[in-house]
Amino acid sequence: MPFSSLLLYLSLLLLPAASTSCTSGPPFRGKGLQLDKTSLSFDFIVVGAGNAGAVVAARLSEDPCVRVLLLEEGNYSQDSGQDSTSTHQNWIAEQIITPRRDYRTWALPALTHQLSTEANPAVNNRSGILLGPVVTGKALGGSTVVNIGAYTRPEPAYFNRWGIKNWSGDETEAYFHKQEDHEDPHPEYGKGGPVHVEHGDAQTVYPYLHQASLSMDPPLRSNSAGRLSYGVPQVYRVIENGRRVDAYTAYLRPVVAERNDNLVMRTGARVARVLFDKNKRATGVVYTVAESGDVDSSTGINRNDPRLGSRGREAAARVTLHAHATREVVLCAGVFFTPHILLKSGVGPAAELEALGVPVVANVSGVGKHLLARTNVLFFYGNGSVVPEMNPFVLRDPATTEMYDLEHRGPYSLGALGIYSVVKGRYPGDDDYILFMTDVIPEVAPRMVALGCANLRVHGPGGQVLLDPTDPLGAKHPRIQLNMAAAEEDRRALRHCLRDVRDMMAEPIMTTNGFYEIFPTHRLVEDTDKALDRWISRGYTFYSWHATSTARMGDVLDDRMRVQGGVQGLRVVDASAVPDMIEAGPMATLFMLGERAADLIKEDYRENT
Ligand SMILES: Cc1cc2nc3c(=O)[nH]c(=O)nc-3n(C[C@H](O)[C@H](O)[C@H](O)COP(=O)(O)OP(=O)(O)OC[C@H]3O[C@@H](n4cnc5c(N)ncnc54)[C@H](O)[C@@H]3O)c2cc1C
Repeated sequence: MPFSSLLLYLSLLLLPAASTSCTSGPPFRGKGLQLDKTSLSFDFIVVGAGNAGAVVAARLSEDPCVRVLLLEEGNYSQDSGQDSTSTHQNWIAEQIITPRRDYRTWALPALTHQLSTEANPAVNNRSGILLGPVVTGKALGGSTVVNIGAYTRPEPAYFNRWGIKNWSGDETEAYFHKQEDHEDPHPEYGKGGPVHVEHGDAQTVYPYLHQASLSMDPPLRSNSAGRLSYGVPQVYRVIENGRRVDAYTAYLRPVVAERNDNLVMRTGARVARVLFDKNKRATGVVYTVAESGDVDSSTGINRNDPRLGSRGREAAARVTLHAHATREVVLCAGVFFTPHILLKSGVGPAAELEALGVPVVANVSGVGKHLLARTNVLFFYGNGSVVPEMNPFVLRDPATTEMYDLEHRGPYSLGALGIYSVVKGRYPGDDDYILFMTDVIPEVAPRMVALGCANLRVHGPGGQVLLDPTDPLGAKHPRIQLNMAAAEEDRRALRHCLRDVRDMMAEPIMTTNGFYEIFPTHRLVEDTDKALDRWISRGYTFYSWHATSTARMGDVLDDRMRVQGGVQGLRVVDASAVPDMIEAGPMATLFMLGERAADLIKEDYRENT
C-alpha cells in the first residue's frame, strides 16, 4: 500500500466517533415507527439496498442523530428464513446463502429484476442476451445476492485515469482497505473490514490452467485483486464459512443486530420518482408497496376485476406512499433503474422528456446515456482425465447436500469461477483483456469447462437507458440498448483473448491431460480475424452483467456525486455513477464507492450543521 494511501487509511480509522448529543433533539428511536403511515420524514432517504446502497445506508446511520430510510423493492435477504415458518421464505434464503446456487437464482423473479433489451447490432441483432433476459438483483443486498461472488479490484492507475478529484488511486485504495477482511495477509489488502474475502477451495481444473498460463512463451501476466503477477491466479471470492457474503450480511445485518434505531429498512418498496420543491431541492420520494386484501384502499378498485389484466392487477395491488428527506435523497437503484427514476422525475435531456410529456425539473443531458456494457465470449473444452468436483454424481448424492446443510462445506460452498483475471497484452500492441474460467453447468455437462473472454475497456458510443414512450411515467421497465461490442477495439481485445486461450490450451500440460476444444473447434472457427469476429457476433457471446456509467461523475454528477443541473439534495451512488467501465468485476469497486460516498456525504452535512 503506498504511503499516502496508508496515511489516509489510518486517518479513516481515527475519525471521531459521532457524538450522541444531537443538535436537533435526542438521538432518534425508530423502532416504534409505523411505516404504513402515508408520509414520513427522515434526514436521508437511500433508494436501493444493493452493492453500494447498503454501504451508504449503514455508514450514514453510524451517526445516531441521523435518521435514514432505506427503500428496497426486493423482499428477501439471507435472514428471511429467520423467525419464519414459511418454507418458501426459508427456501429463498437458502438460495441466497449457498454460493453455488448463482445461475439458478437468476431465474427467480423473487430475487431478480428480469429486463429485456433491444437489438444489439454487433451481436447479430440479438435482443436480450444469449442466456435469457438481463438480470439484476432484487433483495436486501441487491445484485450481490445473485452474483458469482468473484472479488476483483482494478489497479490504482485505473482510478487515476478517471482524473476526478476525491477519486485518485491513493484515495480509493484506502477505502478498499477499509472494506476488506482479506484472508490473504498481503500488505496490499485490508483486514478487519465488513467484506470477507477468501480463496475458497481450488476447482480441480484450476491448477492445470495456472501451470499452462505460466509455461506459455511469453507467459501470461495478470491482475486479479489489484496486484500484478505471473500466470492467472485463483480468483478471490466473497464467501465466509461456506456462505455467501453479500452487501446485506456485510453491512446491514450488523446494523440490524446492534443499533437499528435510526436506520429504517422498508422492503417491497418500489420508488417511482423523486419529489422536488420550487428551488429544485429534492425533498423526498414517492413509492409504492404491495397491499394485501382484495380491494385497493386508496382507489377502491377490486383487484380481482377481470377487466384489469395482469399489469393493471399488479398496479392496483400497490399503495402509493410518500417519504420526506430533510437533507438528501441518495439514489442507489443500479445502472438501469437509477437513470429510470431520474428520467421519470424530470431530470434528464429536456427535449426528450418534453417530447414524452414529462415535466422537466432539470436539463441534464447525460442521464441514461453512455451505458457501457462488457461482452463475454466463451470457448468450451473437454477436461479429459481431470475429474471435476462438480459432477452430477457428487451433486445429486444426498451426502453432498448433507455436507452443505450441516457444515457448509463441499461443492455447494464453492463459487462458479476458478479464474477472473485482467490479463496484460502479451505482445506490443496487444490489448489487455479479462480471462475467466467456469465449469458451466456441471449437472448438464460435467466434463466441460468454459474459458471466457471479456473486453476490459469499452470503446465506442455505448448504449442507453430510455423511458418507454408507451408508459413514460409508469412502473414499466425502461428501454435498454446495450450496444455491446460496437467498437472495433472491443472486438480486437476479444480476439486477442480468444487466441491466447487457444495457445494456453495447446500447452503440453493441457493436451497430455486430455483437455481439447469441444466447441467451436478450429474446423468451424479458424484463428483468422474474420472467423473470430464471426464467433464474437454469432457464437457464444453474452452480456457480462457489468454495465456502468448511465449517470456518471464528471457529467451528470460532480466529484462528490451530487446531481448537476441546478438540482440540490440529490446524489447517485451505484454503478451508474462510475465514469468509465470498471477494469475488473464491479462488486469490489462498488463497495468502495459506497464507502467513499458515505464519507463525502458526512463531510458535507457536518459542514452545513
Ligand atoms: C448475475 C450477475 C453476476 C455477477 N457476477 C459478478 C462477480 O462475480 N463479480 C463482480 O465483481 N461483479 C459481478 N456482478 C456485477 C455486480 O454484482 C453489479 O455490478 C453490482 O452489484 C451492482 O451494484 P449496484 O449498487 O449498482 O446495484 P445493485 O446491487 O443491483 O442494487 C440496486 C438495488 O436497487 C433496488 N431497486 C431498483 N429499483 C428500485 C426502485 N425503483 N425502488 C427501490 N429499490 C429499487 C434493486 O432491487 C437492487 O436491490 C454480477 C452481476 C450479476 C447480475
